Amino acid sequence: MPESPIECFVCETPDARLPLTGNLDRMNHSPLPCRPKSSVPDSAPDHAIELRSRCRGVVPLDAIWSPWMMQLAAEADQVKQLIEFHGSPVNVLSTDPMRSNINDLQKVAERANVPLQIHFARKANKCAEFVRTGLLESIGFDVASESELEETLDELHGSPQHPSKDPILCTAAVKPASLIRSCVLNDVVLVIDNKDELATLRETLAGLGPTEPKARIAFRLQHCPTKFPGLPSRFGMPADELTLLAKSLCDESRIQVVGIHFHVHRSHEQFAPSFTKALIEEALHVVDRVRGLGHTVAWLDIGGGFPVNYLRDQMQWQRFLTKALASVETNGRFASDRKLTWNQRPLADIDPAWQPLSAANWIREVLTPSLANEINRRELILKCEPGRALLDCCGLTIAEVLFVKRDQNRNHLIGLMMNSSQCRTTRDDFLVDPIVISASKASAEQTKKTDHAEMEGYFVGGYCTESEYLMQRKFRFPNGISRGDFVLIPNTAAYQMHFAESRAHQMLLAENVFI
Ligand SMILES: *Cc1c(COP(=O)(O)O)cnc(C)c1O
Repeated sequence: MPESPIECFVCETPDARLPLTGNLDRMNHSPLPCRPKSSVPDSAPDHAIELRSRCRGVVPLDAIWSPWMMQLAAEADQVKQLIEFHGSPVNVLSTDPMRSNINDLQKVAERANVPLQIHFARKANKCAEFVRTGLLESIGFDVASESELEETLDELHGSPQHPSKDPILCTAAVKPASLIRSCVLNDVVLVIDNKDELATLRETLAGLGPTEPKARIAFRLQHCPTKFPGLPSRFGMPADELTLLAKSLCDESRIQVVGIHFHVHRSHEQFAPSFTKALIEEALHVVDRVRGLGHTVAWLDIGGGFPVNYLRDQMQWQRFLTKALASVETNGRFASDRKLTWNQRPLADIDPAWQPLSAANWIREVLTPSLANEINRRELILKCEPGRALLDCCGLTIAEVLFVKRDQNRNHLIGLMMNSSQCRTTRDDFLVDPIVISASKASAEQTKKTDHAEMEGYFVGGYCTESEYLMQRKFRFPNGISRGDFVLIPNTAAYQMHFAESRAHQMLLAENVFI
């Protein structure tokens, strides 16, 4: 295997790109949009049936595969070359879907007659390519660390594109003085989470000189727990506390309050558009209160957390949920027989992988005419910070099968050249079925002919722990699976490929290849 750099940005250096022409170039121009626009994608013809046939969850969760990903999956030789050249696993990425995801949201806002400024939440993927794509589309960015800020500023300064007004917001969960200082010096709006952060900002300003520079800030709102039970958050401040803090700034000419911000983590039922509409309505009242103090609040930022649908079939999702979730009636025990996960592992903290609405259709339902009217009569700009929704369909992760063996319970263990940090977030599992392909067409034919016996088992990875299972769910392989096969995991660009990656065991990080 050729030596690959430790840093991720293989994607940045043209000479490190995969030395392939033809098909990969074609893929770059794959037809967009990349997935069904309808709110219920179940009815779309399933072009991936053949590809899916070699691997399914014991309780299946058929993933949506966008055309460019299916094209790659159909070209075993290209997958093989990618892995031979870059090692296993490889994150394969495309920026085209991001552009259409951005355009879809912008179109909805235009139709709803609401001035919308999109900021891409950078933490969802570390590749600077997505910043460049965002710049081409004139959107802004949301940064959550000093490195994200510095890198985004560099891209901004090096770009021929004229950036949008206020291109960067900083919502970092913890903000050291150095980050605050850098935001002030670069006129980046700081989203202030608490009183202590404001104190650090005041000190930082004092340290920078008696009158200049100025700082622009927004306050992060924590919604009222009585009105919104079931939305506990460590972030932001309740409206009263926020208003008091804003009041303390009335005589401080060096700190300008320009926005109100919120970002919430939605549980399954909180994805209902009416819920977000209510969150926005409460925030509009806070805008009024802060404006009432004399601050010129220009915008309301509704954060990210827009829905993304990973799955084809609502029925499969519902069946999975009834099997996977512990039920209250059975006192927390699992509702039914669970051949579902390794070691009966509970899947308690999961993202709703199936969603009835795409992000664009969802925001369309949030922005009702009456809400649009409430925003417009205040002459407010609406900002949002989706990460996941902008990266929908932008990447997949491919890995090589190094071994297949049996465990003591006669399950098969499929050892991948990959570790569990390479497709993981803080959730308990990534709820999509991967695709398995053979290394070449010849061996694929052979797989069909010899008709290997059906197998069931789990994907295991490179960390030397007993719990190193790459996915918690059990999978079925109707024609078997063997050494040298490839496993393709769909739609990993948002969080899945980068959020938890680690160099434990001094293993190299996966390379990121844009095609
Ligand atoms: C993570 C985060 C986002 C992006 O969330 P998505 O679910 O990826 O859309 C936006 N804003 C803030 C403050 C965040 O922490």
